[in-house]
Amino acid sequence: MNKPKKPKKPRGKVRLLEGKCAACGARCESVCPVDGVTVNAAGEPVISLDRCIGCLKCVKICPAQALEVFFTVEEQKILSELARLEGEVEEAAAAVAEGADEIAAVLGSHRGVWVFVEQTEGKAATVSWELLGKGAELAGTLGVELCAMVLGDHVDHLAQEAFSYGATKVYLMDEPVLKNYRTEPYLKAILALVRKYKPEVILMGATGQGRDLAGAVATVLKTGLTADCTGLGIDADRNLLQTRPAFGGNIMATILCDRFRPQMATVRPHVMRLPVKNPEARGEIVREVLSLKEEDVLTKVLEIISDGKGTDHVDISGAEYIVSGGRGMMNRENFSILKELADELGGVVGASRSAVDAGWIPHDRQVGQTGKTVRPKIYIACGISGAIQHLVGMQDSDTIIAINRDKDAPIFEVAAYGLVGDLFQIVPELTRRVRELRTRK
Ligand SMILES: Cc1cc2nc3c(=O)[nH]c(=O)nc-3n(C[C@H](O)[C@H](O)[C@H](O)COP(=O)(O)OP(=O)(O)OC[C@H]3O[C@@H](n4cnc5c(N)ncnc54)[C@H](O)[C@@H]3O)c2cc1C
Repeated sequence: MNKPKKPKKPRGKVRLLEGKCAACGARCESVCPVDGVTVNAAGEPVISLDRCIGCLKCVKICPAQALEVFFTVEEQKILSELARLEGEVEEAAAAVAEGADEIAAVLGSHRGVWVFVEQTEGKAATVSWELLGKGAELAGTLGVELCAMVLGDHVDHLAQEAFSYGATKVYLMDEPVLKNYRTEPYLKAILALVRKYKPEVILMGATGQGRDLAGAVATVLKTGLTADCTGLGIDADRNLLQTRPAFGGNIMATILCDRFRPQMATVRPHVMRLPVKNPEARGEIVREVLSLKEEDVLTKVLEIISDGKGTDHVDISGAEYIVSGGRGMMNRENFSILKELADELGGVVGASRSAVDAGWIPHDRQVGQTGKTVRPKIYIACGISGAIQHLVGMQDSDTIIAINRDKDAPIFEVAAYGLVGDLFQIVPELTRRVRELRTRK
């Protein structure tokens, strides 16, 4: 919609004040640029209102101050409309300034980097400790405390574990209503802590629990949340730089939440490095009570049913050695040569999405943007081209070995060792060599 045009400010017209003209000799007539003044027989000016442009030359030159400016009724209407508009502009400017002050006050009142310690039956998710490692870096840059939020029932021991991974303070809520994860009580617990202690950054694991909770917290607090970050940093204005793949992983976007606090980010397991544990480390525990009764929680946990994967279930994200296969494996059966090599190394078999999509291997083995993020000691990529969506899931592995018959495959750009050739010859040869070295020991 077009904005209504602001009217032009009228300049007024000139008129003669009765009885004041000194008949000075037509000075006013001589300076008028539009021939709007004529002097009559008495030597007094007659002003033509049609011609007068309100330039004030005649008013200024008159030695007897016999001329003045006046505004017609129409012009007066325009002037009062202009005054009203100016008032609105001033009000708007004042509101903007007030808003900027409010934002500055919010930003200034929040301090500290917090990590949510996710736990199931009293056992912490490793991603929480990984986040404490990254959180320590961020807190160091900001010059603030690194704190952990521990929620649950009989979870005191997790506070000590949080100290050993770098937290200097733990906010602890230990009560039966927090025993099993449910969105409502956990959300209320975090809101109570955040509103009271005002952290500037909150990090959570991009797990089922973390994704659910982070979204709920950010929504209620009306703040920003960046999911699945692969990089975190701090800019000169204390903003959290939240980097994550965007547009299908084709670019890396760095996202800022520069007007609201806390700034919230989730990070997938194994994206950040696990810090070295120091069991001697100590810190401060701040105990808080959640004012919520079990009968006030709508969701009830009736039974916990295990996913049946048991302890034999392979979790590639925690593996130290991964042998991954891609479309170059040609079929499901050929994955057996990768399994042999993985078994010799004490590792597991992973895959690219192409191999998963082809049905050669289950989805829980997929490495990459829509699969798992892994950080093994050794990652061997066999017949994988190295698309960006695959690389984001494995590029932080300690050592990457790539086997590909195409010497220009992008996977070689991240590989420490590249073997150009046919994987069906190279992989069995590698397995034979590893077996030989192991039996020699
Ligand atoms: C939104 C989105 C999310 C995605 N998420 C993921 C993800 O999580 N993980 C993932 O992996 N991909 C993901 N992808 C897909 C990704 O873009 C690639 O298509 C995929 O990684 C390619 O898999 P590949 O390397 O196995 O297959 P290809 O790209 O086809 O590469 C096969 C490679 O095998 C080599 N090769 C063939 N035969 C042999 C042989 N005998 N010996 C040696 N080398 C051989 C070829 O030279 C080639 O380099 C995603 C894509 C999108 C759009």
